[in-house]
Amino acid sequence: MTPNALALLALVFGAGLGALAVWLGVRRANARDASQVIARQQLGEILSPLRAAVAVVTDADVVLAASSFAKACGLVRGSSLGPSEVLDMLTDTRQKGRPVERDLRLPPGPGSPVVQLAVKVVPLSNGAALVVGEDRSADLRFSETRRDFVANITHELKTPIGAIGLLAEAADAAADDPDAVHRFLGKLSKENRRLNELVSQIIALSRLQAEDPMLAAHEVDVAGVLEASVARCREIAEAGGISLSLSAEPGLQVVGDAEELETAVTNLVQNAVAYSETGARVAVTSRSSGDRVEIRVSDNGIGISEADQARIFERFYRVDADRSRASGGTGLGLSIVKHVVHAHGGEVAVWSKLGQGSTFTLRLPASQEGVPE
Ligand code: ADP
Repeated sequence: MTPNALALLALVFGAGLGALAVWLGVRRANARDASQVIARQQLGEILSPLRAAVAVVTDADVVLAASSFAKACGLVRGSSLGPSEVLDMLTDTRQKGRPVERDLRLPPGPGSPVVQLAVKVVPLSNGAALVVGEDRSADLRFSETRRDFVANITHELKTPIGAIGLLAEAADAAADDPDAVHRFLGKLSKENRRLNELVSQIIALSRLQAEDPMLAAHEVDVAGVLEASVARCREIAEAGGISLSLSAEPGLQVVGDAEELETAVTNLVQNAVAYSETGARVAVTSRSSGDRVEIRVSDNGIGISEADQARIFERFYRVDADRSRASGGTGLGLSIVKHVVHAHGGEVAVWSKLGQGSTFTLRLPASQEGVPE
């Protein structure tokens, strides 16, 4: 049992059960007086704000009091316990005279998602029982995300690796035809570059999740970051016939890791270029806004639908996988942006309209030294 659960039980046993003891004593004396009502009400008041799903149940399986979360997640419905598994646990705990534990997955209810609970039923005197459910949904979601991530990585890596193998065989088989060999080797190089990009982005993302960039934070000149990012994308923008402009307010500083901030802004500029047509304009700007520094990357490119805007920060999510791959995309760029910005105490927002373009805005806490008077 985690320290949280122990603390919770201590709280419930220490305070709530004082009230429960009164209730049980009153019940034994069969006294239907006001103190019975007061004790029950007090117990409800004590349990209500607890973050875990907690319920106190009588010997007749009637819920005497419960925390708000127990009701919200469906452990308690009215004056009964919701899931039949918990009723089985109650029978079990009374027969054995000791606590029983079990993991339960509660189905989604109106306005509540699926909840994974680690449930413990503890027998009390007079056949009553305490039901404590610790919310493990976040742990479950984390392990599901990790499983999906591994599955996605495997899939993404297999594609270029498979292509490299096939292209090497094709080049070998076409040994008598230099033009064909040249063509196959060109494609092979392209797949190799994709593999390289993918592996370095996976490593970047894993490092971001494992290390806190703020541990080695220093004052970062925002204009310097933007200049470096724009310089990195200049060539590819020119090749695509896209104009790239920079307007950075001088003197703005944030606290953090310059290299990671440069990676984040570069990802946004690369996307702005990749998802715009020839002749489009990409603008990178920064300005001070209260105690924040705002960095904007705008384009008048293809835009993103509202439904896709809700998903583009997910790892490996792409609106158009073929277009992403054709521009060397991995589906990890925006996920990296989100991680970098959150690690710096900031947030990222997107405005976009299909056919009109997109603006990504990063808001980062300004360094106190860098804020203009
Ligand atoms: P990718 O490597 O595929 O570009 P990202 O995580 O950087 O992956 O972006 C996710 C998806 O969001 C892209 O595949 C693309 O569909 C969409 N997207 C990102 N930036 C833009 C933009 N500026 N304009 C239009 N679509 C964009």
